[in-house]
Amino acid sequence: VEKKSKSEFSNLCRDADFVFIETEPYNVRNSLKLANMVKQSGESTSIVYGTAPSMNPSFFTKYFDFVIQTGHWENAVETLLSDKNLFIKKATNGIYSINIPIPSKDWPHPPLDLLPIKEYFNISGEEQLEINVQKGCVFNCSFCAEKSLIPRHEIYHRDPDNLVEFINNNHGKSFYIDATTFSYNKEWAIAVCDAIINTKKSVSWKTVTRIDSLDEKLVKKMSEAGCHKIGFGIETFSKKLQNKIHKPVDYNKARYISDMLKDNNITPRAFLILGIPGQTAQDVYFTQEKIEEMGMEYRWKEYVPFEKIPFIKDIAGFDEFERQTYAFHNIPNMTRDDYIKLLEIKR
Ligand code: SF4
Repeated sequence: VEKKSKSEFSNLCRDADFVFIETEPYNVRNSLKLANMVKQSGESTSIVYGTAPSMNPSFFTKYFDFVIQTGHWENAVETLLSDKNLFIKKATNGIYSINIPIPSKDWPHPPLDLLPIKEYFNISGEEQLEINVQKGCVFNCSFCAEKSLIPRHEIYHRDPDNLVEFINNNHGKSFYIDATTFSYNKEWAIAVCDAIINTKKSVSWKTVTRIDSLDEKLVKKMSEAGCHKIGFGIETFSKKLQNKIHKPVDYNKARYISDMLKDNNITPRAFLILGIPGQTAQDVYFTQEKIEEMGMEYRWKEYVPFEKIPFIKDIAGFDEFERQTYAFHNIPNMTRDDYIKLLEIKR
């Protein structure tokens, strides 16, 4: 979010012992450019982590000193900073893949005093802080990268008191409580709500979960704790496509939950996918119509074929992946303009 000149960036790298670069499938080329600048700037050690290196670690070993493959990257970072020799010993050919979660009470908080947080707020237009509370997922949606980051089918949680400490330290802000499925473990979700209620402060937050893991008792509790919006991966209402992506979402259940949330002053929001293989314009508009019928907020997002990433061999392959995935998926009977218009909808 900060505009830094090349020389300012080089100076930062020159003064640093370690430079960590998060890399996603849509920014691989830029990430490699940065890695090159780190190398040219001096002696600092470059480390890459994120979805792309998790899925194709050996590609990144050519450009970085170390690749963190595990999604429990905080643990890897801590090992590296506290004992570099131990980290090197545990890394195989420069790839650190040890999947040990951090204890629930020790999940770190972002160092807000070190971040250009005002610039972030200016871009987003609101004073909202994001904090991650879950890693891993027990579900198996074919389009989702979570299982590559955290391969075991398990969900790890931030301790509710640890979360509340962050909220208390940032009173007055709103929060995006980032979760894979917030309400999967209802006991934990209730404990989070109770911990927030016990602060006796008015806290405004939103989160993400699945339609099939909510019930009325929990919805009421979330509302009491200040939750004002819940996002759901509805993806599509086409049964054929739901089977393809291993994500069944029942229309009647979605409608029931949507109404229940509204009755409890929570705005329901649907995430929809554009470009699922086999999707037609008819599927797309059918899903959108159903969501509008329910009065849900929604946004479309492009389908990402993560399963192709492990097979990409060179930078041209990542460029091609980026072009095919993020520019335009060819959907029968849909023009490029209509496709782009759908991605621009913000409701
Ligand atoms: S439920 Fe959500 S996090 Fe879990 S696999 Fe599906 S999309 Fe990914």
